[in-house]
Amino acid sequence: AAKAGGEPVRAYMPSMGQIFLRRFQLVTQFRHAVETGQVKVHYQPKVALPSRNVLGVEALVRWTHPEYGDLHPDEFVPAIEAAGLVGALTGFVMEQALTKVRKWLDKGLRISAAVNISVRSLAEQDFPEQVSDLLTRYGVPPELLTLELTESGVMADPQKALPVLRRLHALGVVLAVDDFGTGYSSLAYLRQLPVDEVKIDKSFVFGMGTDLSDLAVVRSIVELGHSLGLSVVAEGVEEDVARDQLSAMGCDVIQGYLISRPLSESRLEAWLQARTT
Ligand code: C2E
Ligand code: CA
Ligand code: CA
Ligand code: CA
Repeated sequence: AAKAGGEPVRAYMPSMGQIFLRRFQLVTQFRHAVETGQVKVHYQPKVALPSRNVLGVEALVRWTHPEYGDLHPDEFVPAIEAAGLVGALTGFVMEQALTKVRKWLDKGLRISAAVNISVRSLAEQDFPEQVSDLLTRYGVPPELLTLELTESGVMADPQKALPVLRRLHALGVVLAVDDFGTGYSSLAYLRQLPVDEVKIDKSFVFGMGTDLSDLAVVRSIVELGHSLGLSVVAEGVEEDVARDQLSAMGCDVIQGYLISRPLSESRLEAWLQARTT
């Protein structure tokens, strides 16, 4: 059961059998769910510091399941990935996001979209061509598309990921390392990756107001990022204090509930309207 539009309600602990059945159902139902509009993309704004101008939005998938209610990606993306269906998910999210960017361009707004990319997509040899074809089809300049790759995903098999990252970078799309600080990257590795942006993991940002070691991690990522010429983004900004600390450190972009929660398409349009007029 779930509240309409709210967080899923966990009333009981499901058994292993129930968990397995549910994962199986989600995988088999996914394509149909996309085709029938159960799967939607929400968008969370990213704003520049200190101006607070809206630079872009991150596309975050949502699934309103007829039986299980509103599902967050953590509840179904891993199963979709394991089943080899992530290409369908990425393609859907990217087309939705590029449609929005194109519409904004037609209204004279330059707002970029960031799409989360599963490490499995980097294993597809033709992934860069798929991205390039979509940019052409939607008439979107590559610099208005950001691809967010998790640090752990890229580091799991850098030899495999690197050539694909180079080809994506050559297209001119923006490459971001997501969840930075949670994995094992050394400074040396980050230098070798053809990336443009680091996103500080929200676990450090949540703690930075109260925990000195979180604050130190955030500060060192901002400095490291800047010394490598990267744009630094902080996610999970919930409080004024965090925003002010990040601003003082010179962090370039922030994202989080303080600015806005992820919004449906129509609510995002209303939010943008209120912001820009
Ligand atoms: P992520 O890429 O790290 O996305 C940020 C997550 O943090 C989102 O959760 C967002 O709603 C949440 N968030 C943003 N600001 C705040 C804040 O201020 N406070 C708190 N507490 N949370 C905040 P969400 O939407 O549940 O997504 C979870 C993860 O699912 C994402 O983590 C991403 O790894 C994955 N994901 C989402 N959409 C897609 C997709 O289209 N494809 C793939 N492959 N993965 C996706
Ligand atoms: Ca992300
Ligand atoms: Ca993240
Ligand atoms: Ca994450």
